[in-house]
Amino acid sequence: MNADLISAALRGCDMARAGRIRSRAARTIRGMRRPFIGGNWKMNTDHASARSLAHAIAEGTGADWAADVVVFPPFPYLLSVAEAIAGSPVALGAQDLSGEVNGARTGEVSAEMLRDVGASWVIVGHSERRHKIGESEALIADKLSMALGSGLRAVLCVGETRAERDAGKAHDIIAAQLRSAFAAIDAAAMDDVVIAYEPVWAIGTGITAQPADAGEAHREIRSALAARYDARLASGVRVVYGGSLVPATAKSIFAVDGVDGGLVGGASLKAHDFLALCTAATVGVAAS
Ligand code: PEP
Repeated sequence: MNADLISAALRGCDMARAGRIRSRAARTIRGMRRPFIGGNWKMNTDHASARSLAHAIAEGTGADWAADVVVFPPFPYLLSVAEAIAGSPVALGAQDLSGEVNGARTGEVSAEMLRDVGASWVIVGHSERRHKIGESEALIADKLSMALGSGLRAVLCVGETRAERDAGKAHDIIAAQLRSAFAAIDAAAMDDVVIAYEPVWAIGTGITAQPADAGEAHREIRSALAARYDARLASGVRVVYGGSLVPATAKSIFAVDGVDGGLVGGASLKAHDFLALCTAATVGVAAS
């Protein structure tokens, strides 16, 4: 990694310099996993603020952007955000989808509907849906199959609770989540998957995982992928970190070997912070 470049990116106010950093990063990452950074807006924003946030993010990313940047607004604002980011490198994602194709499922949103309004990504298995809404491993597996089978790309979230970590079960929990989610997923579909390691105790708490712990979890995730598929596939899948990422904590996390970017909640609601994280991910991942 190059600490000076990352620090410059995190200052995030000199756009010309940011452009030079991005161009350099674009050259550096050739042949490596392309960084991914997603902004999960959760149940935040209103119509006007969603549009202006999307505009600001689109304006802050140039054509030569060397990372996949995806925003995940609430369902009602997908179409307006699609319009706001049109022509920019920013892609549109949804925060959830139904495991069913269509029909009598009041309140649900299908993969086809998401594609219809311009979404190309969807989050599956977010811990807030696992733990606050009660989604089962089986439902998450159905949703992942539905997303990939419908031409969407998916961010699968996995991670342990504080109690599971304290009991020394973190790796078993993550391995079980991966086994269940990927049981019916062919290797060919894995090009369209990003895995987000999101320790539940770090989400929205202001506590970021220690870089060493994040690195260990990322290694475990890749070994689970190697066991399910093979080592070559495991080394090609992008694995990102999520949990209270802010510009101040990003530098050390993005420098960890095997961390390919981030899924960002709170900090994705401020364009300046999110853009600083996007640039830091690009530079940090490229140079690490
Ligand atoms: C998330 O919701 O995926 C997340 C990582 O949230 P936060 O960054 O706010 O912890």
